[in-house]
Amino acid sequence: MTSIDVTAPGSKAKKGNAHVLSKARRELEDIFESMGFSIISGPEVEKEFYNFDALNVPKNHPARDMQDTFWVDKLDETVLRTHCTSVDIRHMQNNKPPIRVLAPGRVFRNEAIDATHEAQFHQWDGLVVGENISLANLKFILASVLRKFLNDDSIGVRLRPGFFPFVEPGVELDLTCFKCPKNNPSSSCNVCKGSGWIELLGAGMIHPNVLKAVGIDSKKYQALAFGPGLERLVMLKYGVDDIRDFYDGDIPFLKQF
Ligand SMILES: [Zn+2]
Repeated sequence: MTSIDVTAPGSKAKKGNAHVLSKARRELEDIFESMGFSIISGPEVEKEFYNFDALNVPKNHPARDMQDTFWVDKLDETVLRTHCTSVDIRHMQNNKPPIRVLAPGRVFRNEAIDATHEAQFHQWDGLVVGENISLANLKFILASVLRKFLNDDSIGVRLRPGFFPFVEPGVELDLTCFKCPKNNPSSSCNVCKGSGWIELLGAGMIHPNVLKAVGIDSKKYQALAFGPGLERLVMLKYGVDDIRDFYDGDIPFLKQF
C-alpha cells in the first residue's frame, strides 16, 4: 500500500483571465465614465425600425440587403442589430437632453470572413445630445479617449468627409500612426503603409431627421455620434493581424494580454 503525504503542497490550479476584448471594453467604459458618460445597453435582436428606419436609412438602401443584414424574421421585421446606434435611438426616445452615453456591445453583419472581417464584432457607440454641440466636441472627445486608451499623449486626429445616412455632416476619423517616428512615417510600416495616418472610425452630427424621429427638437439641440469597432482598436494597440484570432479560443494567444 502506497502512503499519501497529506502535508505535501498541492499543485497550483491554472488561473484564467478575462478575454482581451472584455478587458478593452471595460477600459473604454472607465475612460468614458471619467468624462461623465453613462454606459447603456439594448437588445441584440432588434426591430427594423430601431436598426434602420429611425436612423434615416431608406427602405431601399443596400445596407438592408440580405447580404449585409441577418434577418431574424422578415415578417416580424426583426434583425440581428448591425450597429449599436439602435441603442442610442432607444435611449433618446426615453430620455431628455442633455445626454452623454456610451453603448458598447456585439453587432452582426452578414459578411465574408477574412483577416479584417467577422460576422460578429463589437462596437463602442457614443452619443452626446445638448445645446451648442459641434464637431469640435466630437474631435476633442475622441482624441482624448484614444490618447488615453493607446497610452500616447502625442496622438493627433483628423476628420475627413464621410457618408452615413444618419449623420449630417458625416466624417471619417483618422489618427496619426503611433508605430512610426513622429513626422517621419516609414513606407515599410505595416500599420499606416507610409501615409502616417490610420483610418479608424465613422462619426458625425446626428441628422435632424433622426432627432425628429425620436421627438427631440432639432432646432434647439444638436447631437454627435460615433461608432467605432472594438476589435480594430485592440488590433492596433497590440499589433494583432487577424481578427479571427480573438474568437479561435487559442489559449497561448489569449494569455498574452
Ligand atoms: Zn506607420
